[in-house]
Amino acid sequence: MWFRNDLRMADNTALYRAAKSCECMAGIFIACPETWREHNDGDHVVAMRLRSLMQLQRALEKKHIPLYFLEVATFSEVPAALDQITQKLKIDALFANAEYPLNELRRDQAVRAQLKKRRLPLELSTDRTLVPPGSITTGDGAGYKVFTPFKRAFIAAHDNSGEAFAPLPAPRSRSDDHAGQWPEWIAVEGDSNLVRRVPDTVGDYAVAPGGNQRVRDWSTGEAAGARALKAFAETIDDYHRWRDFPAQENTSRLSPYLNCGAVSIRQCVQMATQANGGRWAGGSEGATTWLSELLWREFYQHLVVNYPRVCRNKPFKPETEAVPWSDREQDFAAWCEGKTGVPIVDAAMRQLNETGWMHNRLRMIVASFLTKNLLTDWRKGERYFMQTLVDADFAANNGGWQWAASTGTDAAPYFRVFNPYSQSKRYDPDGRFIRTYIPELAELGHRDIHCPPRDIFADHGYPAPICDVTESRKTAIEAFANLKK
Ligand SMILES: Cc1cc2nc3c(=O)[nH]c(=O)nc-3n(C[C@H](O)[C@H](O)[C@H](O)COP(=O)(O)OP(=O)(O)OC[C@H]3O[C@@H](n4cnc5c(N)ncnc54)[C@H](O)[C@@H]3O)c2cc1C
Repeated sequence: MWFRNDLRMADNTALYRAAKSCECMAGIFIACPETWREHNDGDHVVAMRLRSLMQLQRALEKKHIPLYFLEVATFSEVPAALDQITQKLKIDALFANAEYPLNELRRDQAVRAQLKKRRLPLELSTDRTLVPPGSITTGDGAGYKVFTPFKRAFIAAHDNSGEAFAPLPAPRSRSDDHAGQWPEWIAVEGDSNLVRRVPDTVGDYAVAPGGNQRVRDWSTGEAAGARALKAFAETIDDYHRWRDFPAQENTSRLSPYLNCGAVSIRQCVQMATQANGGRWAGGSEGATTWLSELLWREFYQHLVVNYPRVCRNKPFKPETEAVPWSDREQDFAAWCEGKTGVPIVDAAMRQLNETGWMHNRLRMIVASFLTKNLLTDWRKGERYFMQTLVDADFAANNGGWQWAASTGTDAAPYFRVFNPYSQSKRYDPDGRFIRTYIPELAELGHRDIHCPPRDIFADHGYPAPICDVTESRKTAIEAFANLKK
């Protein structure tokens, strides 16, 4: 079983299929730190991955299933490495769960071609998504470009198929005799060997990176993911009421676990459909709303397969390639540091920098501010999020950024630009969230905190706004209006 971003025992489709077909089995994880850096995987998302891997290794070993670890620099080295390893370990079938961004698809095609020469099958399972990308299509067979019709089509096809998404059991323990047959390590051509221990450092990544303690404090692994899911099940019925209010913290915070695979999408669907009388829609409003969010995730995963140009750094809407993005590096730096002078934007960016996570409403606000008010290329924001979020996921992040920048799948026209001040008043009415992350403004009352009066900035050591949101909105709308269709 070749593990990637599916680091769990329970409800792991490929692991289940491997366990069913093979009496004697082992796991392998191949770290590719240079490719991870090229993909902008940040220190904390990788730390979370490696820590989850260590926990998975212990759980597998308890069931007499060894987990091997290999480090190579890039994806391009994986086919040859797997070829050698499968020969040396006398493997006769390799199982994995499919991954969908373009480079991952190409890596798997290359592995399949390499192993085919020895008639060794690579069996890929659908696991990261509920259904295979490409299976939900419009009447003319194309992938959906807009979320709402995708969601309608998905629910029409699957509303009564709760059973189809029922989680699978973890593999049973293997016999002690078989476990003893696996070597402790084997030599592999290249710089590192195949070993049965996950190291503390991988390339220039570390299991315990420096930086902010609160980012490092995220608990990891399958048990932590299961606890988060169980805790959220208690409050899911209220999700729709408070999910847009960042100070309430009532969303599930399951994204870091979903993304490294410590929790499966089917486990989430099972919990929510149970809370919803076995259905996708109707029943509990909270559960229905949350299930819809899970379908946003599904939609973006399908989008990268249906429209792979988004994996090549290209906008989903080709004409938006011509947007005259600003090259004011100081604006981008102020945005990254949470020093734009717009309190809700700065509080959000400080939440990201301090905790590795940001509330969804705030992701939309800061992305709109960067791409519209500062007219900065969405790819810069996309990259910064990839490098800093503990839940960084290519499909969801690219989808979210392009949605906010009007280069993507948003059904609303480009002239809908979020006003950060009205968003702030609406979703953080008493300023509680802002005060948590901007101590300079902690003494301001709820009237002033969203858009502090001019004389207050200097007194409080807080910067004046770097742009006028009304004027910059007009400039952005003109820039988009001038694009050739
Ligand atoms: C600019 C931008 C960048 C984003 N980058 C990422 C990212 O790198 N990784 C990531 O997982 N999500 C990303 N999102 C989506 C969303 O913000 C997070 O999934 C959500 O905030 C995670 O918190 P939660 O687990 O408490 O979500 P909940 O509200 O509890 O939702 C449950 C799950 O549904 C999925 N989900 C919810 N909203 C979305 C959405 N809009 N798009 C896709 N999936 C969604 C997530 O898997 C989430 O864990 C981004 C959104 C925007 C606007």
